[in-house]
Amino acid sequence: MTFLQLDQLGKTFGDFRAVESLSLDVERGEFISLLGPSGCGKTTTLQMVAGFVEPTRGRIRLNGADITAMRPEKRGMGVVFQSYALFPHMTVADNIGFGLEMRGMRGAGKLKRIDETLELVRLPGLGKRYPKELSGGQRQRVAIARALAVRPEVLLLDEPMSNLDAKLREDMHVELRGIQRHLGITTILVTHDQVEAMTMSDRIAVMHGGRIVQLATPYEAYERPESAFASSFLGKTNVLKGVVEARNMRCCEVRVGDSLLHVPHQEKSLAREVNVYVRPEKVRLAPASASGIPATIRTRLFLGNHWLVEVDSALGPMRVSHPNIGAVPPAEGEAVALHWLDDDLRLLDTEAAHG
Ligand code: ATP
Repeated sequence: MTFLQLDQLGKTFGDFRAVESLSLDVERGEFISLLGPSGCGKTTTLQMVAGFVEPTRGRIRLNGADITAMRPEKRGMGVVFQSYALFPHMTVADNIGFGLEMRGMRGAGKLKRIDETLELVRLPGLGKRYPKELSGGQRQRVAIARALAVRPEVLLLDEPMSNLDAKLREDMHVELRGIQRHLGITTILVTHDQVEAMTMSDRIAVMHGGRIVQLATPYEAYERPESAFASSFLGKTNVLKGVVEARNMRCCEVRVGDSLLHVPHQEKSLAREVNVYVRPEKVRLAPASASGIPATIRTRLFLGNHWLVEVDSALGPMRVSHPNIGAVPPAEGEAVALHWLDDDLRLLDTEAAHG
């Protein structure tokens, strides 16, 4: 049985449809991200799961029981908001203990649980401080500790890391994923940060216009995006406009400018006019004398772990991510040949380009 089931959930504000017939099955212990741009309905979906927003249609089931109309505090879910929403007049320990008291836990049991939870989020000994005496990162940990203290069945996270600086955020991704695995707690994260979603999730639900447009593991979603939207939202990509000239069982021949590209065939019915997608790190720079697409280096920027190289190619301007191993890429103005594996090309209808 599915642990948490969102069944054709919809939410309309006035005549605006924020979420449209959204279905999602979450397994026990799974970490799912709702990933998408601002306004795509992520928070509304999470708020319906939490019980703060009433769905216009659809059902939510937890462990087989229909909880669509259940009050938030009865759902056994912990929620962490972007703002943390800590009680400023309460100490860290009291913030964390608040939910425990509401559930009738008092005395030594409560104190033990507070200490354990502070340990879990690596803030031992800070129980007596007030929120204003903590750094942003520490406050965020307290907010997570407060949600975890009651050992909820489901943890709901609404962009909880967006106030942290980049380095701290990266550390928290790894740490929070560790805690989630350790406790085996079913988690839904709302984020517009693709790196965050990729680092932490078992599966990513890519959202657009109130719908899930792709549900896949981070690897599948990145390597095999099902729409132009999913492709460009999950990382950088080159888009080459072409025309299908021939198809067989294995591949399509797509003309882009004067070149003919062999793109592995995909199931979906395809228009004649297509976009061919290729990620910058799949493109290799070879000497101009080698076979490949002729190109000239326009700019090359050193970014530490790789070079970002922009080229003017026979297919149009393209971006190449050149790994920082061995030789540095050729200088600006030099001629090169571009090379990739056919399997790294992805064909998506131009009609699908807007989701
Ligand atoms: P963000 O990343 O900016 O938080 P989101 O994907 O979480 O975006 P939601 O907050 O779910 O998006 O909002 C989805 C849409 O519904 C938006 O267009 C928003 O303006 C609208 N919306 C959300 N709440 C309400 C409300 N209470 N009344 C009217 N419209 C709302």
